[in-house]
Amino acid sequence: MSYNEMEQLYQQVILDHSKRPHGQHGELADGPRVGESFQVNPTCGDQIKLQVRLHDQDAVLEEISWEGVGCSISQASMSILYDLVTPTKPVEEFNRLLGLFRELMHSKGQPLSEDKEDLLEDATAFTGVAKYSARVKCALLGWMALQDAIASAENQS
Ligand code: ZN
Repeated sequence: MSYNEMEQLYQQVILDHSKRPHGQHGELADGPRVGESFQVNPTCGDQIKLQVRLHDQDAVLEEISWEGVGCSISQASMSILYDLVTPTKPVEEFNRLLGLFRELMHSKGQPLSEDKEDLLEDATAFTGVAKYSARVKCALLGWMALQDAIASAENQS
């Protein structure tokens, strides 16, 4: 595939997810080990509110639900992240993916190695976004929301 074809494919993935975002299930039922986060990206106006339920004992993401407004990059990135960690990925796995996604977002548009791209699946669609520093925050917003919500869930006894 040529670079242009790749870019078009990536843009289509982002568009599809922003039009029909995954993981918007409404408010989660109350309970222990439920954490919440509300993240705002003031430079673009994006907002994401996210809830996560961790497993009773294990550090496993049991349930995630979110809602948001903002640009297609912010909303698509959250939707793709939802697919990556659902169902029931360990928190450790999320942290590993977050490390890779940060690396991608700081790559200035250079693709990561193939094995890393395989792990990030559709999130590699944001490779081109990393060229525009103002949009990096949009792409990272949902990831920050999940990281923050996990920390808040872990702090509940
Ligand atoms: Zn944005």
